Amino acid sequence: MDTPYTLIPAETLPSDAVNTVQHLINGEWRGSEGGATFERHSPAHGTLVSRIARGSAAEAEAAIRAAREAFDGGEWAGLSGKERAAFLLNVADLIIENRSRIARLEVLESGKPISQAEAEIEGAADIWRYAAALARTLHGDSHNSLGKDMLAVVLKEPIGVVSIVTPWNFPFLIASQKIPFALAAGCTCVVKPSELTPSTTAILGELLMEAGLPAGVVNIVQGFGDPVGHVMTTHEAVDMVSFTGSTQVGKAIEKAAADTLKKVSSELGGKNPQVLFPDADLDSAIDAIVFGIYFNAGECCNSGSRIIVHEDIAEEVTRRVAELSRKVPFGDPLHPDTKVGAIIHQGHQDKIQSYVRDAEAAGAKVDLGGAPLEVPGLEGAFFAPTVVSGLTPEMPIAREEVFGPVLAVLTFKTMDEAIALANGASYGLSAGVWSENIHTCLEFSRRVQAGTVWTNTWMDGFAELPFGGVKESGQGRELGRYGLEEFLEVKTVQMRIGRTRAKWV
Ligand code: NAD
Repeated sequence: MDTPYTLIPAETLPSDAVNTVQHLINGEWRGSEGGATFERHSPAHGTLVSRIARGSAAEAEAAIRAAREAFDGGEWAGLSGKERAAFLLNVADLIIENRSRIARLEVLESGKPISQAEAEIEGAADIWRYAAALARTLHGDSHNSLGKDMLAVVLKEPIGVVSIVTPWNFPFLIASQKIPFALAAGCTCVVKPSELTPSTTAILGELLMEAGLPAGVVNIVQGFGDPVGHVMTTHEAVDMVSFTGSTQVGKAIEKAAADTLKKVSSELGGKNPQVLFPDADLDSAIDAIVFGIYFNAGECCNSGSRIIVHEDIAEEVTRRVAELSRKVPFGDPLHPDTKVGAIIHQGHQDKIQSYVRDAEAAGAKVDLGGAPLEVPGLEGAFFAPTVVSGLTPEMPIAREEVFGPVLAVLTFKTMDEAIALANGASYGLSAGVWSENIHTCLEFSRRVQAGTVWTNTWMDGFAELPFGGVKESGQGRELGRYGLEEFLEVKTVQMRIGRTRAKWV
């Protein structure tokens, strides 16, 4: 059958082997009290992938107790930076050794393509190595200019027990943007992966045990936001929550954590604009737009889900983006040539479709796609590459996070208008600008409200560079040295030299 898209049909279905996933609590693997479990099927193939222990408040509390005792016991925090760095490097090596096993389970539970999953696992190992460098170089400040009778030091101390809650779209990578930094700082953790992608975080737990992590330093509880996530974010023995996920749940966690005044760092949603000026290198920009919107099927906080195009080039850009979109290989995520795999579940596919339907009903033009895709041999949820133009900024598709392969096209005439559109959404995660004029790029970079700005590129990432959002995209930063600072508390020590203090009375 002729198709306007590039489809990769199923080659071979995954085997029937079912992965068993348990909790890691105080160095031991165990099921749930009463033996409760739940299942995860492959969103692309429909096959049963994993049977997972379903955590209750009892497991969450046991894990928090273990993390608290491990922290208060001081064994991990008391190691030297050199010793913690050696451990983190060891874990990085183990991740690389286990890359294929991790990547395959990541594909089967998330629907993402195998080549991308492998690259993410390698990227994750690199982050563990970077965190090792930070562990080795961690230090505070000294103040030697406070007068001849005073010396002060500012100590950086681990914040304590950290609850780490992660989403389904980059399960192993996001766990690796948090856990090694917490460990480098000397913290202990309780980790809850998404109920949709539990397995690769459990494998990480195995590797941590193999590398010799003391019991209780990292605990993993499998299960759902209620009750496991709720206990982890409200328990008085937890000092900090590090959360990545939706803005809606992020706000609920901020409120829940307020009663015990925990520190909360959050990486939330985005509606990230790429702005194209008429002098842009269109060949590069159009390739980056297609990458930006279809990477991870658009299920990406950094998805370039809006383009804001100067009206002189809008028609050409929209046509060329639609043409190139047809060439992107969608289909079986286990096939090495696939670039876009399955949508995480049918309910999410329906939500994506409703955004397009509502936009069309409100007068928008669907230039490409807008409907589910049939991939031969696969029964899972796939959504066609979709380009929607003729939008007004008020339409939900132009301002809300669709989290699918759906590009919203808006137009502008002046820089002020482009900035107003870019800053008009409630999010502020990332933004991009395309122009051959350095002044245009610099002005845009300074005026746009975003945690990351890309000029003449999109979605490059480095372990060295901090990442995070402003406005409703979250608080705090991951990666870079700021990523380590999140897990550190500051203590000031003031030391008088000699008995020179004037008596008060
Ligand atoms: P989600 O908010 O539904 O779930 C995230 C995690 O929170 C899951 O582990 C879930 O079980 C848990 N959870 C749910 N309710 C909870 C509660 N009340 N208390 C504690 N934990 C709870 O998000 P998702 O659907 O898994 O992921 C998609 C979202 O994540 C998108 O909005 C995306 O933009 C965002 N995201 C952001 C970044 C970033 O770095 N900014 C990165 C990846 C994903």
